[in-house]
Amino acid sequence: MKIAVLPGDGIGTEIVAEAVKVLKVLDLRFELESALVGGAAFEAHGHPLPDATLKLARDADAVLFGAVGDWKYDRLERHLRPEQAILGLRKNLGLFANFRPAICYEQLVGASSLRPELIAGLDILIIRELTGDIYFGQPRGRRTAVDGHFPGDEEAFDTMRYSRPEIERIAHVAFQAARKRSKRVTSVDKANVLETFQFWKDVVSEVGLLYPDVALDHMYVDNAAMQLVKAPKKFDVLVTGNMFGDILSDEAAMLTGSIGMLPSASLNAGNQGLYEPSHGSAPDIAGQGVANPLATILSVAMMLRFSLNQPEAAQRIEAAVKDVLAAGLRTGDIYSEGTTRVGTQAMGDAVVAAVTNNKG
Ligand code: NAD
Repeated sequence: MKIAVLPGDGIGTEIVAEAVKVLKVLDLRFELESALVGGAAFEAHGHPLPDATLKLARDADAVLFGAVGDWKYDRLERHLRPEQAILGLRKNLGLFANFRPAICYEQLVGASSLRPELIAGLDILIIRELTGDIYFGQPRGRRTAVDGHFPGDEEAFDTMRYSRPEIERIAHVAFQAARKRSKRVTSVDKANVLETFQFWKDVVSEVGLLYPDVALDHMYVDNAAMQLVKAPKKFDVLVTGNMFGDILSDEAAMLTGSIGMLPSASLNAGNQGLYEPSHGSAPDIAGQGVANPLATILSVAMMLRFSLNQPEAAQRIEAAVKDVLAAGLRTGDIYSEGTTRVGTQAMGDAVVAAVTNNKG
C-alpha cells in the first residue's frame, strides 16, 4: 500500500507529523512518500502543485493531505495560489465524492455553540459533490456587460452546471452510504430558483427509485442551513452540490465544537482517496505547537477504512481518540475547565499510546 504524504503549509506539517506517527504504530505495511504542496511547493518549485507531487498522488493508493494556504500568497495570480493545489488534485484524480462526517463526541458536547440537548449524540454525514457545479463550470470571467441591469459596466460571471452522470454517481454514493447507516438521505437543492438544481432534484429522485429501502427527502438549501442549527439530529446522510456542500459542511463542522476534530475523505470511482482535516492551514497558530491533530488522525482512520480496506485498524484509531478525550486531554481549541491542556505533539503521543494499548 502506497500513501502519498502531502503536509502543505502552516499547521499542515505539524498535524500530519502526528498522523504519520499514529500510522506507523499500526502493525501494517505501508510505503510512505512525502512531497511539497501548496505555498511550500510554490516557494521551492514555483508552482503549488508541481508535476512530481501530482504524479506521486496519482500513483498512490491514498493521499494524506495536511492543509495549504497563507495570507502572504493572497496577491499571487490565482493559478499560483496554494489553494489551487487542492482543486488540481481533485480534478486530476477525479475525486468527485467528498465525505464529511460531523460527529459530536460525548466529552465535547459543551464545546458546541448549540445547547447540549440539540447536539448530544450528533452523527451526520455530509456528502458533497466535488468536481462540478459553479466552481468548475465554464465559461467564467470578467467582461463588459452587454445586457442586464447595467449594460456597458464591468461585470463578472460564473457558470453553474451539472450533467446527468455527475449527479447520478454522487447520488449512488449517498444511497450506498445511507444503507450502511440509518437508511435516510436528504438531498439539498435550490430547485425553486435554479434550473441546475431542479435537474439535480429530478435525477436524485430517479436514482432513489433504485434504493427502495432508503428514505429520500428533498430540502432547499436555505432551509437546510436553518435546520442544521435548529435540529441537526434530524439529518443522517445529506447529499448536495459543490457550493452548497462547501458552506453546509463548514456549518455542520461548527456544531461539533471545533473544526479541529473533523476529518474528511474525497474519493474517486476507484476508491482512491485524498484524506485531510476539514480545516485550513491556520496561519494564526502555525509553528506554536498548539494545533489540534485529531482531525488529521481521524482522516487516517477514514483512509484505512475507505481506500486501504483496513477497517479494524480504522476502528483502533477512532477508539484511541475517544480514549484520549475521555482521559481529559484537550488542545486549546477544545479546552474547557477541568480538562488538561496539551499541545499538538503531546496529543499525538497520547493517541499513539492509546492505539498501542488498544490492540482491538
Ligand atoms: P482555518 O481553518 O485555517 O482556520 C480557522 C480558525 O480555526 C483559525 O482561528 C484557526 O486557528 C482555527 N483552527 C483551524 N484548524 C485548527 C486546528 N487543527 N486546531 C486548532 N485550531 C484550528 O481557516 P482560515 O483561517 O479561513 O484559512 C487559513 C488559510 O487556510 C487560508 O489561506 C485558506 O485559504 C486556507 N484553507 C485551506 C484549506 C485546505 O487546505 N483544505 C481549507 C480551508 C482554508
